[in-house]
Amino acid sequence: RQAHYAALKSKPSVTRDGTEITLLHNSGLVADLPMLNDTGAAGVGLFRTELQFMIASRLPRLQEQVDLYAEAMRIAGDRPLVFRLLDIGGDKVVPYLRATAEENPAMGYRSIRLGLDRPGLLRTQIRALLIAAAGRPLKILVPMVTETFEFTQTRIVVKREVERLRRAGEPVPERIELGAMVEVPSLLFELDRLLPETDFVSIGSNDLVQFLTAADRSNPRVSRAYDPIALPRLRAIKLVVDAGRRYNIPVTMCGELAGRPVEALALMAIGMTRLSMGPGSIGPIKELVLNLDLEPVHQSVMAALTDGADGVGIRDLLAEWIDKQ
Ligand code: PEP
Ligand code: MG
Repeated sequence: RQAHYAALKSKPSVTRDGTEITLLHNSGLVADLPMLNDTGAAGVGLFRTELQFMIASRLPRLQEQVDLYAEAMRIAGDRPLVFRLLDIGGDKVVPYLRATAEENPAMGYRSIRLGLDRPGLLRTQIRALLIAAAGRPLKILVPMVTETFEFTQTRIVVKREVERLRRAGEPVPERIELGAMVEVPSLLFELDRLLPETDFVSIGSNDLVQFLTAADRSNPRVSRAYDPIALPRLRAIKLVVDAGRRYNIPVTMCGELAGRPVEALALMAIGMTRLSMGPGSIGPIKELVLNLDLEPVHQSVMAALTDGADGVGIRDLLAEWIDKQ
């Protein structure tokens, strides 16, 4: 299978009926990055910067962060790489940073909430990213945005750090793109406010589905409730896809579902063309893309979305499409 997938890596990622699908890696360790050359992925859609913090025993210093980001960018080369700002808390435990126990850590003091509340941490990370870029373009993703306000606050922090760098006579990235993760359901009802502020958007379905369904993403006993492509969830995801079209803002899916064939097919069927996944999933998903006539799948999923057949129905429908290929 490995050899078979390797043979696909240099083929353009386009469906049989001509829709281009951009396939990207989810990553967080520099050691994973050379795999870009093996998979032929277009870049890194999600680099989870908290991993460096999770495997350390104390706060990584500015220079340690700079070194990691610079090395990641060096390996990615011309391929785009999206650095996600620290997403600490919830399932991502950094013991030396969590002072108080919380009853619901997934819904607690985490991620950009923590970042804006402890600006030293956020500032240092943004400074490290800017220094590591050394004048090259930089893409930064803000996790767990609940209100557009948090996103615009983060942009202010970025601007301040850029100014600081400029005053010091250091090179400033030629272009900085700041994106928001859509993974808190409330943001679905604020897309018209958020999207004009963002350069790109990334859907974190792992959390989005957890919060939409009130079903813990890591609890197997509620995995049935968690189904990410049941119609209500697919409709929610489609709201983001459609808003991205309206505002001409690229939308990437970076939740784990993008790397699973049935789920990826559902996403492509609702118009998603940028999928970020674990490197091991690129081969199978690329194969799916290359064999796919998307239009008829799009038609039947759209019909299911409007007719309101239940979630199990759509999973069966899509599995059948895949079998037919
Ligand atoms: C997500 O929530 O879907 C996501 C991509 O981020 P993480 O899994 O790191 O929370
Ligand atoms: Mg998340």
